Amino acid sequence: CGIIGCVGRGSETLDTLVHGLSKLEYRGYDSAGVAMADDTVSLCKTSGKIDDLRAALKSASLSGSVGIGHTRWSTHGPPTDGNAHPHQDCHGDVAVVHNGIIENYQSLRDELVAAGHTFTSDTDTEVIPHLIETELEAGAEPEAAVRAAIARLEGSYAVAVVIAGTEAIFAARHDSPLVLGLDDGATYLASDVPAFRDFTDKVVYLADGEFARLDASGWVVSDVDGTVVEKDVDTVEWDP
Ligand code: GLU
Repeated sequence: CGIIGCVGRGSETLDTLVHGLSKLEYRGYDSAGVAMADDTVSLCKTSGKIDDLRAALKSASLSGSVGIGHTRWSTHGPPTDGNAHPHQDCHGDVAVVHNGIIENYQSLRDELVAAGHTFTSDTDTEVIPHLIETELEAGAEPEAAVRAAIARLEGSYAVAVVIAGTEAIFAARHDSPLVLGLDDGATYLASDVPAFRDFTDKVVYLADGEFARLDASGWVVSDVDGTVVEKDVDTVEWDP
């Protein structure tokens, strides 16, 4: 339902993610979670409200200066802790948040299970980290792995991905909104501007089919073929 991501916020990363999620609460949700990456991926997620996530975070230890967060409005699987986003691959090196519905998730899941993947949730979303894992294990670089996984998806999605050892966020959308927020030394992404409006008013709206790579020094938007797309940077005039 709601997505936030940030890279370049250093020790403020976790607070920035939770703040962003609290700004997306108006959309309605049943679960919330965050993931951060450095050499490993660490995450914390729970059914319930942002305050439940804050409580769970007191006994979690997350580290990294790149992170993603999610508020879930369940479509596939009940609002349990295990169905909350982010979702991971078998090795825990990939974390994914997703808004929307993957229409072909059952056939992808069957294919992945047949290939030896173990699923831990009822969600359509969980096929995404496992698809990325398959590509990484086949030797793909992180960006190529995410692109190849996204290319397999049918349905509606806004997706954000972090990968262990990669100080970047990868994102893609189809029929579900995503917007980038640009600041000196930090880059944000969200399903809606209020999530990062307290930090920047410079935004880039992704269009359907576009892919983005964000790191602390900037951002690149490309089309499905990997061709760089020149995007307009807008200034948000209104107050959230
Ligand atoms: N279909 C996904 C799920 O049920 C994402 C729902 C959402 O947009 O929050 O977990």
